[in-house]
Amino acid sequence: MTTRNHCLERDAQDPLAPLRDQFDLPAGVIYLDGNSLGARPKAALARAQQVIAQEWGHDLIRSWNSAGWFELPKRLGNLLAPLIGGVDGEVVVTDTTSINLFKALAAALMMQAHDPVRAGRRVIVTERSNFPTDIYMAQGLTAWLDRGYTLRLIDSPEQLPAAVDADTAVVMLTHVNYRTGYQYDMQATSALAHASGALIVWDLAHSAGAVPVDLNKDGADLAVGCTYKYLNGGPGAPAFIWVPKKLQASFQQPLSGWWGHAAPFAMAPDFQPADGIARALCGTQPIVSLALVECGLDVHRQTTMAAIRAKSLALTDLFIELVEARCAAHPLGLVTPREHAQRGSHVSFTHPHGYAVMQALIARGVIGDYREPAIMRFGFTPLYTSYADVWDAVEILRDILDRQDYNVDAKRDAVT
Ligand SMILES: *Cc1c(COP(=O)(O)O)cnc(C)c1O
Repeated sequence: MTTRNHCLERDAQDPLAPLRDQFDLPAGVIYLDGNSLGARPKAALARAQQVIAQEWGHDLIRSWNSAGWFELPKRLGNLLAPLIGGVDGEVVVTDTTSINLFKALAAALMMQAHDPVRAGRRVIVTERSNFPTDIYMAQGLTAWLDRGYTLRLIDSPEQLPAAVDADTAVVMLTHVNYRTGYQYDMQATSALAHASGALIVWDLAHSAGAVPVDLNKDGADLAVGCTYKYLNGGPGAPAFIWVPKKLQASFQQPLSGWWGHAAPFAMAPDFQPADGIARALCGTQPIVSLALVECGLDVHRQTTMAAIRAKSLALTDLFIELVEARCAAHPLGLVTPREHAQRGSHVSFTHPHGYAVMQALIARGVIGDYREPAIMRFGFTPLYTSYADVWDAVEILRDILDRQDYNVDAKRDAVT
């Protein structure tokens, strides 16, 4: 039987434990929501001050060159690339995940439309339980194109093989499901799409910085993802898009703004896409927010995805073990796969009063979140979550459940 002392011993031996000091977390909070909004790297405050006071305030417009503002999407992309199995010149940090998905999906559809054999394909396969914006963006794009594209929604990963066929243009999947924490096998799933002649677009929102990803090795075609979750870029920080070298020449996206132009400062009246990854850009970026992305990436550079993954699995295993042992009297249902290969870095449990229980947890400093239907979600971020945090969070959960110390009539906030 695991005890709190065992947890403290594991913390003492944890090679990642010193990194926690690089984050500013409020006292009395156990933060289990880094899968939704990553904690603040301490360095972000000084960086924001520098960008605002010096680069903007003092250097003014010269900073587009002198402070490297214009190159920032590419420079940050190169820093991020190793975390997802990309190489230099394949990633830009820019825009939002929703917008990048729109570009990636549109480009993938156009690649297929230009292929003599596959041009007639009109089906996009995705999951009904995908994060809604992914589905919405696909719906918006296909409705606007008005060329007979349809979405085929599968209800579980097991339905994927049967859903991908000779009509499938693109398979668009989120690698780690935001609700269940289920992780697809990227290599096998990419191969499955390719075997039917489809392209595959991956959303790495819950993967980047959380689980090892090897896009090039695993045969992905295009990918997008978030920096404000496990990469700790800050609220609303710009997202990223990955276009592998081999597809860059055929990558054409409809948001052809001047930052994606071959010669942005020639101010020519005709659009000519840049060579390489810059063609994935659109327009001027939110520099203050973009600059802070580097602070989160800097912490990641001090460790490896293998070390993060090892601790992530240890934390999620411990959480599952403790909840099942110590809260056994309560109607909690594990939603997240037990199998390591199928698990991301968060754990979800259902409870009939999941929303109210989560509000009670938050009131006592254990910050997770709630997702319909009845799902309590707990994110584990190995950079700043300790084994003792897991123990303490489960004890607070047990106490709330044992004493039924939650308000079933709790009013729902729009964002929790
Ligand atoms: C968090 C998340 C997003 C967020 O998209 P935004 O454009 O940043 O709002 C998109 N897709 C998935 C799968 C996510 O988990």
